[in-house]
Amino acid sequence: MPNSTDKPESKRQRALPIPKGNTDLPVFTPDSSVASDVIPSANFGERKGGRQPDMIILHYTGMPDVEGAITKLCTAGTEVSAHYVVLEDGRIVQCVPEALRAWHAGLSSWAGDEDINSCSIGVEIVNRGHDWGYPDFPSRQIAAVIALCRGIMLRRNVPAHRVLGHSDVAPSRKKDPGEKFPWHSLANSGVGHWVQPAAITRGETLKLGSIGDDVKGLQKALAKYGYGVPITGKFDGITMEVVTAFQRHFRPERIDGIADRSTLLTLHALLSSLPADEQAQR
Ligand SMILES: [Zn+2]
Repeated sequence: MPNSTDKPESKRQRALPIPKGNTDLPVFTPDSSVASDVIPSANFGERKGGRQPDMIILHYTGMPDVEGAITKLCTAGTEVSAHYVVLEDGRIVQCVPEALRAWHAGLSSWAGDEDINSCSIGVEIVNRGHDWGYPDFPSRQIAAVIALCRGIMLRRNVPAHRVLGHSDVAPSRKKDPGEKFPWHSLANSGVGHWVQPAAITRGETLKLGSIGDDVKGLQKALAKYGYGVPITGKFDGITMEVVTAFQRHFRPERIDGIADRSTLLTLHALLSSLPADEQAQR
């Protein structure tokens, strides 16, 4: 029997996985012109100290299906949320207004800041993640992520080097968005900071157990870039996790937590290609 779902618009609405029980939450106007839908999340707060977001954190959802992911991000009690969800077909759903603090980063740090949720916009990219086969990111989805981020960067004055992955700000706990995420494609559109990784060659490496000034130099360089790593001169477990996170983002060809020559050269190339005023401050 024909009914209202025959209309394309209703079909589109029906296709969106709207969590039950969220009908009481007020719908708001999306902040981004490329967000097509709003599914309000119950999980948010005020940005602490009235901070304005000047950072974008990219995630993958890491769940078997999109319905489950959106339900989790929007339902009261889960204590997680994100400002945006980018679906595999490129549709963008906003769940929390940008002015508010979404709960996506958790225990995290960057450039000495430990309340990443208060200073960032969180973007969840629908992908099953490492635990569920980790499929490639479709190009339509990446194009949508780029369009969304470009808009946020312009409106919020977010510098390219403050568009980061969850694994960058929480290297001990998180792998997302992971080594398959095409950071180089984003950088080609001005989103994120990137240099061509240095070629992998044989030679000296710093690894778990290494001790000395070279390790201290590595830790200082990682910390200068923004990573939360203590400068101890000892290549410990935390250092290895941070090197792994660095590789996942900036040298994805080999992710082994060993600071080889390619890793070090890539790190120093990144540092020296930061904007001049940034380099002066660090
Ligand atoms: Zn995440």
